[in-house]
Amino acid sequence: MLTRSALLYLARQERLKDFATRFSAFKKITARFIAGESIDQAVAAISELNKRGCSASFDHLNESVSSTTETEAEIREYLDILRQIDESGINSNVSIKLTQFGLEIDPELTYRNARTVVEDAARRGNFVRIDMEGSAVTQVTLDIFKRMRAEFELNDVGIVLQSYLYRTEADARELLKIPARIRLCKGAYDEPSDVAYPDKKDVDDNYVRVMKLLLGSGVYHGIATHDPKMIEATTDFAQKEGVGKDAFEFQMLYGIRRDLQEQLARDGYNMRVYVPYGKHWYPYFMRRLAERPANVWFVMKNLWK
Ligand SMILES: Cc1cc2nc3c(=O)[nH]c(=O)nc-3n(C[C@H](O)[C@H](O)[C@H](O)COP(=O)(O)OP(=O)(O)OC[C@H]3O[C@@H](n4cnc5c(N)ncnc54)[C@H](O)[C@@H]3O)c2cc1C
Repeated sequence: MLTRSALLYLARQERLKDFATRFSAFKKITARFIAGESIDQAVAAISELNKRGCSASFDHLNESVSSTTETEAEIREYLDILRQIDESGINSNVSIKLTQFGLEIDPELTYRNARTVVEDAARRGNFVRIDMEGSAVTQVTLDIFKRMRAEFELNDVGIVLQSYLYRTEADARELLKIPARIRLCKGAYDEPSDVAYPDKKDVDDNYVRVMKLLLGSGVYHGIATHDPKMIEATTDFAQKEGVGKDAFEFQMLYGIRRDLQEQLARDGYNMRVYVPYGKHWYPYFMRRLAERPANVWFVMKNLWK
């Protein structure tokens, strides 16, 4: 059976990526986790989610971009998304990855590129979430975010923290002083034990610790998880501490635990679904398989059909 680490290793293999993205049978299978290849398809998926009581966050799939021309195309794509959100009236913000805007080329270029998107979102009263990627870019991502926060308001731009990293509780305390809107997740990358807890139990304990810090801060944060134990810890803590249902939101990924998404929305919680779309689905898709290796059987079964 393929392990989490093996799947995350495969996620980084460029040749496999080229092969898989050309292999049309994969398209059908990825539809479970990816809303399509075009903005129109993502808008349609988000309209459906809105009807089911969930808001959304657009993610144009791309990462580790290595040419400035490609980063410019990413800016255009996001400006287009923000325009289409306004025109279609859907309830959605946007999520970006800094390596999509050139972090592996030049941090200054990245700042300028991401800033263009945040400025447009702020002008439209929308919000940009900066996703968190591998630990090699954690510090530079936080630095760029803090610089952005010095220029833009709390409700214009937010960041993500990952409970598998040892540094996260300290980062959360620092960011809350600014303050900042934080999405808390467990973390999706393959990290060594000198930066991240190797044991799931420690990742979960840290998740609950940081969740309590966030919910106690009075700032609107995102609790991103499909884990019923993390969700229960959050709803219990909120009830005990008198934190209102409208003071935070739950977040889940498109196509994962749809039943739970709808249940939480029906129970009166704010529920936001992260909606990825685009042609560069391979690393995102592989990370979803790594989170639940049983998903590999789902892929095999459907490839066979
Ligand atoms: C909205 C959102 C945004 C995110 N943004 C980031 C980010 O910026 N950076 C980052 O590193 N990570 C991000 N992640 C991914 C996150 O770090 C985890 O890898 C992922 O959410 C799985 O962790 P979990 O909390 O669901 O708990 P887990 O303990 O992994 O899973 C709990 C249960 O959820 C279900 N489940 C979880 N994943 C899957 C799956 N792929 N397929 C089917 N069932 C599944 C299973 O029932 C599983 O038992 C994000 C996740 C969400 C929900």
